[in-house]
Amino acid sequence: MPQPFVLFDNVCKYYQMGETRIAASDHVSFEIEKGEFCVILGPSGAGKTTLFNLLLGLYEPTSGEIAVDGTPLTAANRRAWQNRIGYVSQRLFHTDGTFAANVAPGVPDAEIDRRRVTEALEAAQLGEFIASLPLGIDTPVGECGSRLSGGQRQRIGIARALYRRADVLFFDEATSALDSRTEGEINRSIAAIAARNPGLTLLVIAHRETSLEYCDRIITLEK
Ligand code: ADP
Ligand code: MG
Repeated sequence: MPQPFVLFDNVCKYYQMGETRIAASDHVSFEIEKGEFCVILGPSGAGKTTLFNLLLGLYEPTSGEIAVDGTPLTAANRRAWQNRIGYVSQRLFHTDGTFAANVAPGVPDAEIDRRRVTEALEAAQLGEFIASLPLGIDTPVGECGSRLSGGQRQRIGIARALYRRADVLFFDEATSALDSRTEGEINRSIAAIAARNPGLTLLVIAHRETSLEYCDRIITLEK
């Protein structure tokens, strides 16, 4: 029997609040296959962020089991697993520094692998845009400023995760705070990234059903 890529088997997570136990995740079971585009759906407070923290190994389940490639997630293998996951947010974007510095943050300029930066930007569907800039990846992001759309900012975040060779991308964007045009652009952009990178697993937290169009799997959490 082939093992699922990610398995949540009857996972519960309770937070102790004085005498009250809050069930943030109550007997949650699902599987995710490698390369899938999954949407996690549920109202505010349903446990979506908790699910992500469990998946990352930042929280331990109160009961149940989480396994990756058939191996239970433990303190010993957690770090290696975390290194495979990229958290994508528009808020991680810096207006100071160049595109290269945004894709490889914290890497000294001389040590940035420029070819890998370009490949990551291409995989994130920013190749044409960058090619249209006279300075290419050396363009200060701030110079593009308001010309960068919400979707483009997010794609810089995706390129950053791809640069560090993450093969699981997690999106926990409060799309409810975005106007519907930006939300539509971001959803289409994620779908295009999924189509272009078949080995990449995408987990997207959705606040509305509008983002479900192209996904492979829907995980619904109830409050
Ligand atoms: P969502 O991301 O779907 O809005 P969360 O996972 O943030 O849901 O929260 C699920 C439930 O767990 C909520 O009732 C929330 O108040 C509670 N909760 C989340 N984090 C904590 C925490 N660190 N301590 C105590 N309760 C928490
Ligand atoms: Mg949340």
